[in-house]
Amino acid sequence: MRALSSWLLLLAFAAACGDRSATPSSSAASSSAATTASSSATGGPAPATSASGSAPDATAVAEAPPKPDDPPRAIDMHVDTPWQVKYKDRPVSLPEGHATMAKLKTGQYGGIVYPIYIPDYLHDSHPTIRDAEEIFDTVESIISEHGDVLHAYTKGPTPPGKVTAYVSIEGAGCFADDISQIDRFIKRGVIFIGPVHWHDSALSTSATGKDKKKRGLTEQGKAFAERVYKNGGIVDVSHMSDRGFADLVPIAERYGAPIVATHSNSRAVADHPRNLTDEQLRIIAKTGGVAGLNFYEKFVREGGGATVDDLAKHALHMIEVAGVDHVGIGSDFDGGTPAKGLEDASKVPALAKALRKAGVSAEDVHKIFSENVKRVIRSREKQRAAASAGGSER
Ligand SMILES: [Zn+2]
Repeated sequence: MRALSSWLLLLAFAAACGDRSATPSSSAASSSAATTASSSATGGPAPATSASGSAPDATAVAEAPPKPDDPPRAIDMHVDTPWQVKYKDRPVSLPEGHATMAKLKTGQYGGIVYPIYIPDYLHDSHPTIRDAEEIFDTVESIISEHGDVLHAYTKGPTPPGKVTAYVSIEGAGCFADDISQIDRFIKRGVIFIGPVHWHDSALSTSATGKDKKKRGLTEQGKAFAERVYKNGGIVDVSHMSDRGFADLVPIAERYGAPIVATHSNSRAVADHPRNLTDEQLRIIAKTGGVAGLNFYEKFVREGGGATVDDLAKHALHMIEVAGVDHVGIGSDFDGGTPAKGLEDASKVPALAKALRKAGVSAEDVHKIFSENVKRVIRSREKQRAAASAGGSER
């Protein structure tokens, strides 16, 4: 383990979704507004056109579905490695952590979503779009450093055996400064976008925020969600308050977009505001979305001591309530302490084993590990390509 002072230690064991609220302000580099604005609005839901520019190739996740006997290859919707590199001085070579390249290979990963996590505490609680850009650069540096293992989703079909690397945003409150800036982030490859992290933001209240009972999405937050959907992105509800979630539903439905919680479990199984209610799970299913099983011990079992079998209980409940087509994986590796038996990415096959032991079929394990999230990403590719093509003409 790294030698860390006490508050750093606290952080290291708090999930990306864990309580970072005690975090002191980090070095406040002077912020500057993002300069390469692409403020042109895209239209409403657009017809499909051919992809252009940096729009992801639609075949990137279109490989043949796995056979039941194939080893499940997880597409993990939330791995916090970029945060460790950007803010915790972990070398980009990733010699340690929950998700080193060796561990991804041992765990037979098929895909990994790296969040651009924008901490609430930057610049005295005013993170900027410039911060988002810098963290995006960190994400890209990780992907290019490990080009022998990782393959950027935006670069077309993933060669066999490589791990597709996707990008998300966690804590997009700074985009309230200029919501049009999200366009170019989506064009550059961002897929899932969470408007909020641990604290309420200018876009939405948080599941763990002060005002979560009073309000949900702000007016700007609603406009932001519209903008995300118009560009073919997907709003991530994982850290949103219940009211924010409820406010998002009609907007997602208007765009025919799936509601996705990249890393959230079941609140009926473990009562934590970061987990999803049964009603929310049913809405996720109705929109064709997915909820990713989070390995962070505090979200798996109240009071701690969580094991992989406890996580399987979440999976079974989520399958029962939402259906097996709407459960995925969002480990939160490199964010917090995982449940026992799932200590790092190399152990992920243990989840497949626990699910099989609990009665989930091999075919359904493939759905949970990879096929459901592939479907969700594919469902927005035409819209992404159309928005990207439209934008490039302006
Ligand atoms: Zn999180």
